[in-house]
Amino acid sequence: MSYQEQIDAAVNHYRALLESQIARAEGMNAAPAGKKEKTVIGLVGGDGIGPIITKQAGMALEKLLENEIAAGKIELRTIDGLTIENRLAQGKAVPDDVLAAVKACDVLLKGPTTTPSGGTMESANVTLRRELDLFANVRPVSVPEEGIDWTFFRENTEGEYTLGSKGIEIPGLLTMDFKVTTIAGTRRIARAAYEFARANGKKRLAIVTKSNIMKKTDGMFSAVCHEVAAEYPEIETDEYYIDIMTANLVNPAIRSQFQVFVLPNLYGDIITDEAAQIQGGVGTAGSANVGSRYAMFEAIHGSAPRMIEAGLGDYANPCSILRAAVMLLRHIGLADKAQRLDDAITQAAAARPVTGDKDGCTCEELGDYLVSLL
Ligand code: NAD
Repeated sequence: MSYQEQIDAAVNHYRALLESQIARAEGMNAAPAGKKEKTVIGLVGGDGIGPIITKQAGMALEKLLENEIAAGKIELRTIDGLTIENRLAQGKAVPDDVLAAVKACDVLLKGPTTTPSGGTMESANVTLRRELDLFANVRPVSVPEEGIDWTFFRENTEGEYTLGSKGIEIPGLLTMDFKVTTIAGTRRIARAAYEFARANGKKRLAIVTKSNIMKKTDGMFSAVCHEVAAEYPEIETDEYYIDIMTANLVNPAIRSQFQVFVLPNLYGDIITDEAAQIQGGVGTAGSANVGSRYAMFEAIHGSAPRMIEAGLGDYANPCSILRAAVMLLRHIGLADKAQRLDDAITQAAAARPVTGDKDGCTCEELGDYLVSLL
């Protein structure tokens, strides 16, 4: 193909992307569903260490919620098939039957899923976040002895991710990806962050972008956040570029000043792992993906394929997915049970330390001890 033909093909491709993004932006304000009699919690194992750690979290929830389950108010439902083998066999990031099963639940506790690098298959998470419209990725990070109490609100459906597998390539010469930010998408993540700040007595909120470089997308993200900020005059708003904020988080002299953060998708992805590491590693934090109809709770680490290859899968630390289960319980209004689980995790993690290697306890040993505490 000549360059001209490739440009024509790319322009047609771009037109279709723009049409799909306009339709998405316009459809963003669908009404949330009403309250339901029964809450269905879907348990999705995922890949690698996912099924091992998710099993322990499922057992803890089963014990903690035994009365609600017996009374028919809560159902724990296992959802199979979100495995890399099945996804590759069906050629879909989330196979249709799995997606239907997921949509029949209200909230999900999901183990990590492997994303093939290269190729065109999208990450299962990106697909789920889009299909369930889980626009807010909420990650709390706390180090009480250092005065750190951060909550990150990462926009979860836009930025570099929404069209991440739909870029353009002129073979042998160049590649181009697309980044998308909508006003409605930014407004709802900003509002979620400010509402959280107000409800939890937080005094400071940081908007984090790279609007000096990404002038259209981050520029608009910043402008819309400031518009929302005007409705919350009691909260002090600051704005930082992502590069300096990344440095600020490792600066003990100032980092405890920060409280709530609102960020576009990619910066949020990167900086929340940095923050989790400050807290003690990716095994120690959970993550919530929240929309107006569904919510999904996860460990923040991946499927750790190298642990599986090394025969260390049984030594995986379940604490991150257990902390995600705590967030799930809070989300469905069971704050007391959430606190009980949170306290029990801290106790179990101290009594049955898991190191990720054979010098530590196994995932099951920690999980069994945890259940005995509940
Ligand atoms: P990873 O989080 O799987 O592993 C990073 C390091 O942390 C490894 O050394 C691993 O052994 C260790 N680790 C992770 N979880 C652990 C646990 N519970 N206990 C002990 N040690 C643990 O990150 P990666 O290697 O970059 O990614 C592997 C796969 O996971 C990739 O396919 C990636 O796309 C996927 N992933 C999925 C999610 C998700 O589903 N939410 C998130 C991140 C990565």
